[in-house]
Parts: sequence; structure tokens; C-alpha cells
Amino acid sequence: MILLGSTGSIGVNTLIIAKKFGIEVEVLVAGSNITLLNKQLQEHQPKMVVVANEADISKVNHPNVAFGSDAILRAIEQSKSELVVNALVGFLGLSPTLKAIECGKKVALANKESLVACGAFIDSSKIQPIDSEHFGLWYLLDDKPLKKMIITASGGAFRDWELSRLQSATLADTQKHPNWSMGQKITIDSATMVNKMFELLEARWLFGEGKNGVCEFDAIIETKSLIHALIDFKDGSTTAHFAHASMQLPIAYALDVTMQEQILESVNLLEVGSLEFRPIEQERYPVWEIKKELLANPNRGVIINAANEVAIEKFIAKEIGFMDISKTIITAFEHFTTEPRSVDDVFALDAEVRGYLRG
Ligand code: NDP
Repeated sequence: MILLGSTGSIGVNTLIIAKKFGIEVEVLVAGSNITLLNKQLQEHQPKMVVVANEADISKVNHPNVAFGSDAILRAIEQSKSELVVNALVGFLGLSPTLKAIECGKKVALANKESLVACGAFIDSSKIQPIDSEHFGLWYLLDDKPLKKMIITASGGAFRDWELSRLQSATLADTQKHPNWSMGQKITIDSATMVNKMFELLEARWLFGEGKNGVCEFDAIIETKSLIHALIDFKDGSTTAHFAHASMQLPIAYALDVTMQEQILESVNLLEVGSLEFRPIEQERYPVWEIKKELLANPNRGVIINAANEVAIEKFIAKEIGFMDISKTIITAFEHFTTEPRSVDDVFALDAEVRGYLRG
């Protein structure tokens, strides 16, 4: 397989599962964590490596190293592997997703930004999602008539904070996720609830539009992150997917859909004792204000994705406060009302939104 983003949280877990299943790694792509990359090269012996920066090439212990985003696309084109695991973070993951599909490869997709920004122009039949909620929905799908798909949120780092403290929350505060250990950006996205908005769009592209007869998607908070997805069926039944909070289970199925191994311990409900569900409130998560309009116009996902990435850059640079991330997204969503009609439009609109917000 080809693994993009090998040194990240999903990348590291993917290599654990690849080793367990004896999957050969042909290409590894990383950013700038060369120390970890060198350890991975020793263990997995890929034929080709790509890193983000030219200056790092000499530090990589491998004879075949390239750098930059074009090199990622070339590596996908030149490789023999049929499976691309895309665990890059952000919009930079979109071109590799499109290239992998163009080359006829299967994509195990953790890079949710690909679907958020460009879902209308991606053939979802070529995609196996690496996201616990979509894995949960996929696991629960049944031939019976469906009514509603519900995904769960943990509520992120600030679910119990006083509202008055949120604007002054720091980057370090955002990273104190109650249940999951993940990369920096998705942990910020969990605190703002943007991550759940993205996942609703992802669900819409993967399971919606008459594909499974679903008419509604929604999200609720489940504070222990033991239930990842629920399906309401037309007959009045509801089913729920329980699993411990580990990405290794969705990754295992994305690498081998016929998987028969034990990956996690079962959830012991007697040990769990009780579960708590909460609504997602707009006061704490202001971005929720645009949920309905966004789900009705999912092509506009590229706008919120670009605005979110710019807002996060500004938040990290301490130019804006925490609650301004959501405000920035809403401002951009209200300002840009056009919908992309092609992949080229998606890239153009992404650039336009970034330019507008950076001033
Ligand atoms: P991380 O930040 O942990 O990892 C991102 C990876 O991308 C790293 O390997 C990083 O390299 C690499 N990278 C960053 N920039 C570049 C670049 N310019 N060129 C090449 N490689 C680059 O993120 P996560 O693993 O948490 O998330 C990855 C994706 O999966 C995101 O889209 C996220 O939303 C999604 N996801 C994550 C989940 C999780 O549990 N973490 C759950 C569900 C979805 P380096 O570190 O070496 O700089």
C-alpha cells in the first residue's frame, strides 16, 4: 500500500495494523517529523519516500526520497499498489485523493477534508472511510428502510467549560480532549464542533442522496465516546455501534474489508455503568448555526473548510480568539454563496476564500 501521512496519529496506527496483517508498504509520505519517519523506514522498507521540504531530504535514511506535493502525486501514479491510505491533514489531501481515484486505486480515506471540500466530484464507491462514526454507520447499515443516521460527538475539550472562558482558551487548552488522542488540527476541530459538521457532510456524501434511502443526518454528544453512530429505522427501531475509542478498528476494515481478527476488547456495559447524551448547543458551538443550510447545500463545504483552515492558522498565531474560529467560518459562509460546478471550481473557490480572509 501507499501511506500518506505516516508520521501522524492515523499514520502510526495504520502501520501497526499493516504489520499485523503483513501488508507490504510501497511508499511512505510524511511531513517534517524525520526522526519518526526514519524509524518507520527501517521497519517497513518502502521503495519510495516523499517528505514536505527539500531541506529534509539529506536527513532521510533512504536512497529514493522526493519532496513536495507534486512528488506525492507522482508517487501515487508510479506505484503498483492498489490501496492508498490518505492520512494527510487538511486541503492538501484533496489532490492525492483525486489522483488515486484517477489511477484506479482504492482509497482508505482519513483525510475528511477531501470529501468536505469536493464530495460532489468524488466517486464515493472508491472510498473506504477511516472515521469511527462513518465506520459505525457502515457497520450498522441494513436492508431495512432507514429514517435517520446519527453520529456522536464527545463535545471536545470545552464541553464543560463556562461559556465566558471560551474566547480566551489557548491552543494548549484545545488539545485536552476528554476521550481521543489525535492530531492537533482535528483536536481543535473537535473543540469547535467543526469536526462534527465535517462528519455530517462526509456522511451525506457517503450514505446520502438516495443511496440508502436516508433523508436525515444529525449529531448528538455522547460523553464517553463509546457509541459512535446510531441508525433510526422506519419501523421505530434504533441500533447503535459501540466500540472503545481507538482508530485501529476502522483502519483494520479499511485495509481489509473481509477482516476477521480481534482488534479491540469488547465494551463491557457493566463496567461502563451509565451513558450520558447531550444536545449540541449553538451557544457553546456557534458553527452549529449553519448546519441546516450547509447540509441542504453540501457543495458549499469547500467554503467552510478553507475558512476553518485560515481561522486555525490565525488562532495558532494568536491573532484571533477561540470563538472567532466559528465567527470566521460563518462570515465566509455568508459572504460566498456560489457553488462549485467542477473540481477546478473547488480549487478556485478555496483560493478565493483564503484570499478574502487573509486580506
Ligand atoms: P496528524 O496531524 O497527526 O498527521 C498529519 C500527517 O500529515 C503527518 O504525518 C504529517 O507529517 C503529514 N503532513 C502534514 N503536512 C504535510 C505535507 N505538507 N506533506 C506531507 N505530509 C504532510 O493528523 P491526524 O492523523 O490526526 O489526522 C489525519 C487526517 O485524518 C485528518 O484529516 C483528520 O481529520 C482525519 N482523522 C483523524 C482521526 C484521528 O483519530 N487522529 C480520526 C478520524 C479522522 P509530519 O507530522 O511528519 O509533519
